[in-house]
Order: sequence, then C-alpha cells, then structure tokens
Amino acid sequence: MRKPIIVGNWKMNKRSQDAMEFVKEVDSKLHDGADFGIAPAFTALWAAQNEAENLIVAAQNVHFEESGAFTGEVSIDMIKELGVKWVILGHSERRQYFNETDETVNKKVKACLANDITPIVCVGETLEEFEAGQTEAVVRRQTRDCLADLEGDVKHVVVAYEPVWAIGTGKSATTEIAQNTCALIRDELKNVLGEEAAQAIRIQYGGSVKPNNIAEYLSQPDVDGALVGGASLKVDSFLELVNAVK
Ligand code: PEP
Repeated sequence: MRKPIIVGNWKMNKRSQDAMEFVKEVDSKLHDGADFGIAPAFTALWAAQNEAENLIVAAQNVHFEESGAFTGEVSIDMIKELGVKWVILGHSERRQYFNETDETVNKKVKACLANDITPIVCVGETLEEFEAGQTEAVVRRQTRDCLADLEGDVKHVVVAYEPVWAIGTGKSATTEIAQNTCALIRDELKNVLGEEAAQAIRIQYGGSVKPNNIAEYLSQPDVDGALVGGASLKVDSFLELVNAVK
C-alpha cells in the first residue's frame, strides 16, 4: 500500500519569516493518513526546516555537481547542511525558463540518490503536445530519460505527473486523464526500474489541485498524492487539503 504524499510547491513566494509562521501553524495539525510537505525558496529553507517536525521540507531545485564555478546554483551538500532531504526536480517552469532537460534532471536524480536525498521528479506534456495526442510518448520518454541508469534505493523516488496546461491555469485534468497517465508512467517505471520499484514508487498528480478536488484524484488507483502550487500557499487552504485526504 502506497502512502499518499501531498507537497506544496511555493515557487518564488514567501520570505523566511512567512515560511516559519506557516510551519508553526500547520505542523501540529497534520495526520498519519498521508505525508505532507512544502517546497519553499532556497532563502526560506532553513527557517522552514528548523520549525518542521512533521512536515517534509523540500528544495525546488539543486545542482548535480558537488561544488565549483556555477554562479547562482546551490549544491546538494548545501541543502543537506540545512537538514533538507527532499528536492523537486524538472518542474515544467524550470524546463521552460531555465533550460532544464531530461538529461540534467537525470544527473540530478543520480546525485540525489548518491546523497540520500529524495527527488520528486516532474514530468508532463505541454498543451501543444496534449492537443497533438502525444501525452503518452512524452511522459514515457521523460520518465525513461530522467530515471535512466539509476543506482541505490530507487523506491523512494517520487514522480509528479504535471500536465503543463493544467499548472496555474485553473484547468485541472479530469481524474480519468490523471489516472490514465499515471498508469502509463507506472508502466514505464516498470520498464526502467523493474516491477517491484514501479509498484513502490509514488506518483503524484499536479495541476490546479484544490481542496475540493484533491480527494477525487487520490481515489484513483495510480494517483498517490498531489503536487500543489497556488492552493498550498495559505495556511487555511493547505489545512483544507490536509483534511480532505483524511
Ligand atoms: C505546480 O506549481 O506544480 C502546480 C501544480 O501549480 P498549481 O497547483 O497552482 O496549478
């Protein structure tokens, strides 16, 4: 049985003081029915992690090299120093605006697994690809390429299926699309990592998830959680998500 995992992606929102206050409010109100997490900006990671007892705190990106001349980048060792053990990789905004590719995501996943960091690996098709009927080909390719040649405990990897056309648009995918695509991703996980890992790995749906639709997504057999942007930013809304999956 896969335990659901709900993670809020805060993107470029919230200063460290806001993050600390959020965690203070939310941390004691979680429950055992799911794992819950937030992904603050780098500058707020320490404040959030320092306050969190139950919440997972994740970075939104990390570099694959250990150190060196990579201006503006942050290494795995640097987030580990803060106590952070999770990271979102390959979010579509990083792919769209910062040249993230399946190849760089793959390097980052490998570096994470070598350093006991759990990656949440995002895949998902653009609107153009969706309309051209290419969803299956795109998510299979991204899953295969991002998770190629892995060593270590791959069962802890989390995959997030985020159709780009559903992110921040209010146009959430139907539960049928979410389920069918997550099932395809699980099938591809079997090809890449084997049956046992494919059954263990949690696959989130992300794209305009709200308190009023999260339970329906989680009722699908291959949807094991949600990656949530807008609805994760306010304490009340986050707690509504928490209580909707009890
Ligand atoms: C996201 O940022 O990954 C996301 C899914 O955003 P939203 O929930 O706002 O669509």
